[in-house]
Amino acid sequence: MRLSDLKPGETGVITKILGHGAFRKRVMEMGFVRGREVTMILNAPLQDPIKYSLMDYEVSLRRAEAQLIEIVPLEEWVKEEDKKLMIHPVDNNDEDAVDVRKDRIINIALVGNPNCGKTSLFNIVSGSHERVGNYAGVTIGAKEGSMKYKGYKFNIVDLPGTYSLSAYSPEELYVMRYLREEVPDIIVNVVVASNLERNLYLTTELIDMNRSMVIALNMYDELEKSHAKLEYEQLGKMLGVPIVPTKASSGWGIDKLLDTIIDVYELKNPDTRHIHIKMRPEVEQGVTVLKDEFKKDPTVSQKFAPRYLAIKMLERDPEVEHLLQDSPNYTKWCTLRDEENQRLEKELGDDANSIIASEKYGFIQGALAETFEGGEKQEEQSTKIIDAFVTNKLFGFPIFLLVMWLMFWATFQIGAYPMEWIENLVSWISVEIGKYMADGPFKDLLLDGIIGGVGGVIVFLPNILILYAFISFMEDSGYMARVAFIMDKLMHKMGLHGKSFIPLVMGFGCNVPAIMSTRIIESKSSRLITILINPFISCSARIPIYILLAGAFFPHYGAWVFVGLYVLGVIVAVITAKCLRKFWFKADETPFVMELPPYRIPTVKATIRNMWTKAKQYLQKMGGIILVASIIIWALSYFPRYESADVPATFKEAALADMPAETLESNSEDEIDELITNEYQQEYSILGHIGKAVEPVVRPMDFDWKTTCSLLAGCAAKEVVVSTLGVLYVGDDDAELLSERLQTPSRITGKAPFNQATALAFMVFVLLYFPCIASITAIVKETGSWKYGAFSVLYNTALAWILALVTYHIAILF
Ligand code: GDP
Ligand code: MG
Repeated sequence: MRLSDLKPGETGVITKILGHGAFRKRVMEMGFVRGREVTMILNAPLQDPIKYSLMDYEVSLRRAEAQLIEIVPLEEWVKEEDKKLMIHPVDNNDEDAVDVRKDRIINIALVGNPNCGKTSLFNIVSGSHERVGNYAGVTIGAKEGSMKYKGYKFNIVDLPGTYSLSAYSPEELYVMRYLREEVPDIIVNVVVASNLERNLYLTTELIDMNRSMVIALNMYDELEKSHAKLEYEQLGKMLGVPIVPTKASSGWGIDKLLDTIIDVYELKNPDTRHIHIKMRPEVEQGVTVLKDEFKKDPTVSQKFAPRYLAIKMLERDPEVEHLLQDSPNYTKWCTLRDEENQRLEKELGDDANSIIASEKYGFIQGALAETFEGGEKQEEQSTKIIDAFVTNKLFGFPIFLLVMWLMFWATFQIGAYPMEWIENLVSWISVEIGKYMADGPFKDLLLDGIIGGVGGVIVFLPNILILYAFISFMEDSGYMARVAFIMDKLMHKMGLHGKSFIPLVMGFGCNVPAIMSTRIIESKSSRLITILINPFISCSARIPIYILLAGAFFPHYGAWVFVGLYVLGVIVAVITAKCLRKFWFKADETPFVMELPPYRIPTVKATIRNMWTKAKQYLQKMGGIILVASIIIWALSYFPRYESADVPATFKEAALADMPAETLESNSEDEIDELITNEYQQEYSILGHIGKAVEPVVRPMDFDWKTTCSLLAGCAAKEVVVSTLGVLYVGDDDAELLSERLQTPSRITGKAPFNQATALAFMVFVLLYFPCIASITAIVKETGSWKYGAFSVLYNTALAWILALVTYHIAILF
């Protein structure tokens, strides 16, 4: 019988894992090992993936993967003789006795499963504001911070989450290399108190590595709430690693943790010792054979604990093989390893990987049997109730769509009120400054360049904060992981993966972190596709453009235009993904194993911190790139200067011929001359030349040269599109809002900068055309090739051009 045959509510016991390679390894690390009970909970809306509960935790698997796990029904399972807990202390002064340290800097690395609270802990200790989120894979790369405490300087590094130390995903590889190359003084292994069994798997591997370590028993509050009891001091003594309970989200227990780190560092902690996690004799025999070999080779044994290498070698870990490859004895070791693997296969009827995993789980279960007394899980109960709706066949999608709609509606509608206040404030400032400053280039720079540019963009701060509030709530609460779960089947149809959905939702905030977060995707081709379609997901920097134009030209159904643009972006992304999968990357099947963490209500503190960080980043962007871009744009349009006398007669005649009668009647000759001079000034400025050179390309959509300039400037950052419009479409009086200026017919040509059709085409163009520099850089960095960056620029711009043209032509029909 296979796992996929279980019906909701039925329980089976695992007897064998079929399949091979990364999938096998990963499901075993997740806890699918021989002898483990698994209960099926429910199907996703489209019958796939399936949610199981295992070790009190919920995990989802694709149906095809569940078919690779052999089970027997619970009744048939004859309980095997309880595994004996086997701990054999090893004397402390063997391989690496260390002198008492005299320098007072302690380098710490945080290692733990995804979503165990590492980043929360890091933020508390280092006073940083790194992103936390309630799903796997939020932290990418290593973040560093430091703090002073009791005369020590702690350098602390937050590493990505991993289930084990093997080389199957980029994060695992990263953490492994980090531990090897940077050699932190103390490893802080963060484990989730409410899900110890799975979390301690990684701990057993760290113990094999034989490094100085402290365990932070995080989310201790959840353990307390569940009325479970853990004699953590006893457990720490058994593991040879001190355990300190913490609540990283509130900061409780952190002092004790730091004290313990100091103790361990100074070699004063009584519980610290190196243990061997003994496995059954057949396995130990294999480990010993290889270990003895490695011990003979000092170049190898100095870098890593020989026992660790031996175990990893038996598991055929690619990274360890890579590490040992250069040794002259490598072929000999491989022969030995193959012999041992074959022997194990013969004697135990299974391969080394699954035997070792199940031995380790046996060890953990043994240790917990002595120290842990389970209580009932209240948290789980509420999680189950919420999940019954949120991942339900009927309600799952509608609820998600509703949440998305609410997010964009709130961004547009609710954000409009504070936006108005800031708008008024900006124009008030502009008027006041106008009154008190003498005319001249400096006043022009301040009013037209800086306030016109930066002021035009800063008003959208509230909208962007609202959007981020929604995204961060979805991340922190655990809803995002559910969304990936219910979307898996649909994403699969595009040749992608449920996990790809998270970077896409994050893209609504900013494409750069979204592109980086694709590291959670194990499959290379899925990851590349997710990266390449991400720029079509409309980021918050594009919001100002939509709000400005949709609000001005579609006053009654602006929110629909707004949402429509997002939908268009998603559709283009989907089609692009399908094409890429079909023509470029051949299909690959990746295992879908994703945790469904229990829901956690985000703390107000964390939410406010998140908003504050976002607001700060936005303001910094205003003061940085957008300010600079506005000044440059202003200067390019301001110079060279022209007087009335410089304007050629032919230009004047042509302008007069085009001029609407109303302007001619209501203005004196001098005023008309000034108008024409100003126009000439802009058109023949440096920027005017650039804009006019490019204008023919976008003339089919009826964009003028000023609009063209704003599009070009948008490559610095998408907000600059609006700030450029603000600089170039100067109003008659300073208080006039940019949205009004864009609708008012020019007094010279009688033509307004935008109408409904051009505004729509312009928004479509901005949605799709080349990503900003930061995104392109992220694409190149994450894919490791400039070709993908070039592809993004060319493909996206071509697509934008075509679709904007189509939009324009459809729009002028109405
Ligand atoms: P990481 O993936 O290991 O970096 O984990 P994060 O720091 O991003 O945290 C994951 C989730 O757990 C977030 O929603 C945190 O707010 C939450 N969290 C972290 N520490 C605690 C804790 O001690 N108690 C509770 N209840 N939640 C916590
Ligand atoms: Mg993290």
